[in-house]
Amino acid sequence: METIQVESIDKGFIATVERESGQQVAQCYQCGNCTAGCPLTFAFDIPVHQIMRLLQVGQKDRVLRSHAIWLCATCETCTTRCPREIDVARVMDVLRILSRRAGTVSEQGVRAFYDSFLDSVKSHGRLYELGVIMKYNLQTKRPFTDAALGPKLLGKGKIHLLPGTIKGAGAVKEIFKRFAHKRRNEG
Ligand code: SF4
Ligand code: SF4
Repeated sequence: METIQVESIDKGFIATVERESGQQVAQCYQCGNCTAGCPLTFAFDIPVHQIMRLLQVGQKDRVLRSHAIWLCATCETCTTRCPREIDVARVMDVLRILSRRAGTVSEQGVRAFYDSFLDSVKSHGRLYELGVIMKYNLQTKRPFTDAALGPKLLGKGKIHLLPGTIKGAGAVKEIFKRFAHKRRNEG
């Protein structure tokens, strides 16, 4: 684990994470079970149990700039293995939200995918795969990535040319509206 940077300690950060996640991060006793089961440890710059430790010692900047929080797949293995019953996956989720707010997102591609996915659900009430792929490719400035696969997938009916309509699309839009309204009131 890297050296704790004393000058950048934010003592209030753990309280923020605990409030927003509803989890008691301070209860973590560093058993390492979460990391032992995490399928993405090989790709993380900081293993998940060390993320928990960095939270406890107020290393806000280090955590919010980490790649690990964005590479986490929310598989919840860590949550199910934690003997202190901490929903670790929820904590990682909250860290992504805080990272966005702080403008410290380390993995712009992952962020672009989340945005494309949510925009699609907001517009169509469901996932419109072709729209997500096109938007994601444009946002990541690789417009023709996997373009050759398009006709094959269309031909096999795996993706559709048009988004189509579903029942309840209006209700989904309402959910997004309510969320935006809540955020404005909080801000
Ligand atoms: S939820 Fe994230 S941190 Fe937890 S085990 Fe899965 S990939 Fe690892
Ligand atoms: S499994 Fe739970 S107690 Fe153990 S290191 Fe991970 S978060 Fe901490």
